[in-house]
Amino acid sequence: MRRIMALKEKHFEQIHKKFGSSISEKYDCGRICAPLNGGEPVCCSTDNAVPVVEKSEWRLLRKKTDLWHRFKPFDADSRKIVEELASSSCAIECKGAAQCERQHRTVACRSFPFFPYFNKDREIVGVSYYWIFEDRCWVISNLKIVEQKFVDELIEAYSLTFKHDEDERDAFIDQSVSMRRVFSRWKRPIPIIGLDGR
Ligand code: SF4
Ligand code: SF4
Repeated sequence: MRRIMALKEKHFEQIHKKFGSSISEKYDCGRICAPLNGGEPVCCSTDNAVPVVEKSEWRLLRKKTDLWHRFKPFDADSRKIVEELASSSCAIECKGAAQCERQHRTVACRSFPFFPYFNKDREIVGVSYYWIFEDRCWVISNLKIVEQKFVDELIEAYSLTFKHDEDERDAFIDQSVSMRRVFSRWKRPIPIIGLDGR
């Protein structure tokens, strides 16, 4: 795939500033899901999800905090994740939820479990979620708690990303296509939170 221009540190700095809202002000989903997952929120443990970042985001974070280190694969699945990474990205790991620094979360942390969903006309029509986490992520079972501010910020953050990185846009278009394929096989409607938050 062609790469028009990758995001630079300054772009991630901008995105981190703009995209800080929680999924919900009312519910701290981490507190709800941690007790169901051995004390650690599902998305904060590399046993469940390995944060993949652009190297420029990793460089930015390293300058600001020692929260993160390079992820070391520990089994065949995690080795596969690292082996299949694009040369512009890398896998990292934080010190764990007890030491989380909200302002130094990655874009992947901030958006989880959601991604921008594209329709067949390649337009963003809202956000949907990484369906493999349906069985573990409490938010996915409670989409009504997702607030408009979070949706707005996610869309704004990714719109800025796509302005500078066509490959990222294509990756989420492909992700949306996969979702349509999977949900059509399952004969289930695709869950989307629209741009209007509904
Ligand atoms: S986003 Fe999902 S997996 Fe992550 S802390 Fe909230 S409920 Fe748990
Ligand atoms: S930085 Fe915070 S939100 Fe991100 S994985 Fe670590 S504990 Fe979870």
